[in-house]
Amino acid sequence: MSDVVRKIIALSILIIGAGLLWVVKNPQNEADAAKNHLETAIAEARMRATSADPRVQHAHRSERGGWIYVHLEGDPGSIGFQHGYLLGPEIEDAFAAVSADMTHSTDRDWPFFRLVAREMLWPKIDPEYQQELQGIAEGLSARSGSQLDVYDIVALNSFEEVPDYYVPWLNKQEKTLNPPNLKSPGNCSAFVATGSWTKDGQIVIAHNNWTSYMKGERWRIIFDIQPTSGYRILMDGFPGVIASDDDFGLNSDGLMVTETTITQFEGWDPNGKPEFVRARKALQYAESIDDYTRIMLDGNNGGYANDWLLGDRKTGEIAQLELGLRAYKLWRTKDGVFAGSNWARDPKVIKLDTPQFEPNNLATSPNARRIRWELLLSENKGKIDLALAQKMLADHEDTYSKKTDPNERALCGHVDSSERGVPQWAWAPNYPGGAVQGKATDSALAKEMKLVARMGHPCGADFLAQPFLAGHPEYAWEAPYLHDMKAGPWTHFTAGE
Ligand SMILES: [Zn+2]
Repeated sequence: MSDVVRKIIALSILIIGAGLLWVVKNPQNEADAAKNHLETAIAEARMRATSADPRVQHAHRSERGGWIYVHLEGDPGSIGFQHGYLLGPEIEDAFAAVSADMTHSTDRDWPFFRLVAREMLWPKIDPEYQQELQGIAEGLSARSGSQLDVYDIVALNSFEEVPDYYVPWLNKQEKTLNPPNLKSPGNCSAFVATGSWTKDGQIVIAHNNWTSYMKGERWRIIFDIQPTSGYRILMDGFPGVIASDDDFGLNSDGLMVTETTITQFEGWDPNGKPEFVRARKALQYAESIDDYTRIMLDGNNGGYANDWLLGDRKTGEIAQLELGLRAYKLWRTKDGVFAGSNWARDPKVIKLDTPQFEPNNLATSPNARRIRWELLLSENKGKIDLALAQKMLADHEDTYSKKTDPNERALCGHVDSSERGVPQWAWAPNYPGGAVQGKATDSALAKEMKLVARMGHPCGADFLAQPFLAGHPEYAWEAPYLHDMKAGPWTHFTAGE
C-alpha cells in the first residue's frame, strides 16, 4: 500500500469517526437547526422558482437574530430588481410607515414628495443609481403587483433629507404661515478608534442608530452587495433604500464607515446631489479617506448633514469628516479616537451651519453623551476591542444627572422614558425613539467582510408598543405602524454567507 492510500484510509476513518461522534452527540436542537435551515432553503428556492426572471437567480435572503440578510449582485438594474423582489413585503410595510411619518410631520401630502423626487432629486442622481432605483420598483411589481413606482421609491430614499432639511428651508423661502416645527434629526452614538487606543492597535468602529421606534423596528436589513463595478459592500440598512442611511458599512477595499448626524443643522442646496446617492457611491467606490471625502463633497446638497467617522484598515488611519454645507472639516490620525453623538465641533461649522446649537449646554442629549464618550473611551484607552465596543453601545450613564438612567442622555438612548424629550430635534416628551439597533466591527473582521449587529436596544431591553400607547395617547397616530421592538442577540454576519 502506498503512503498516499494509507493516508486516505486514515483520513476516512477519522472522518467517519467524527461523523459518528456527531450523530451520537447530536441533540434535538441540532436536528431542529438543520430542519430550519432546510425549510429556509426550500422557501428561498420556491421564491426563486416563482420568478422566471434571471435577475433573481444569484440573489438570496435569510433571517437571523431579528435581521434579514440579503445578498444582491450584478449590474445596477439587477441589484435593484433583487432588492425589490426579495424585500417586497418589507418595502411595502416600510413605505406605509415612512410616508405616514413624512406627511404627518411636514403638513405636506404625498404628491408633494413625489414631485420633489421627480423634479429636484431624480435629475441629479447618477445613471447607475437611477437604474438601481428603477430596478427596485420593477422587482416590487414582479413580486406582488405593487403600485409603487420609481418616484415613490426615490421619495422613500430621501426620508432622512427632504422632510427635515429641504422642507424647513422651503418653508423659509416661501414664508409659509405657521410652519410645522421641523428640526434636522439627531441620529446615533458612535466611535472609531485606532493605534494605542485599541487592544490590538488596529481599528475598532461601532455605532448605534437613534431614530423613531416606528422606523427603527424596520431598520433590520443586512445588505451584502456585490456590484459589477466598484467594491463589494456589507452594510446595515432600511427596506427599499440604496444607502445604509443610518450609516454603518464596510467595503472590500478596506474602508470602514459610520456617522452621527449634526444637531440643529440648517441649510439646503436645491442644485445638489441627494445625500443618499453620495453616501452609497462613497461606500461603493472610495479607496481611501481622501476619496471618501471627495465623493461626499461632490454635489453636497446639505441634506442629512453628518459627522462621518471613517477608518481605512489598509493604513490603520481613522478620520472624522464634519460635513456642513457652508463649511466642513476633516480630522485624521493613526493614533487616536473620534466619537460622535450628534454635536458639531468645528467653530466654523457651528457658526455657519448650526447657528442655534449650544455646545456648552451639558443638559442636552448630544453634549451629555459627548462627555460620556470622552470619559468612557479615555478610561478604556488601550483596551478597546469588539466586546468592549458592544458594551459601550449599551451604556446608560447620564453625565448630567450623574445617575445610571436609560434616558435621552444615555449612549443607549431611551427617549420614551424621558419627560424632557429632545427639543433640539423636535422630539416631544416621551417621544417613542432612541437607540434601535447597534453594529460593530474591527480591522480583522473587516478584512473578512464581517460585522456584528444587534437588533433592538443594544442593552437588550424590549420596547413594547401596547403599554406605551396606552400611557401616551398623544402618539396614537403611530398605532397602525408602531410594533414591539424586541432585542435580538448580537449576531455575526459575513459577506457571501
Ligand atoms: Zn438601553
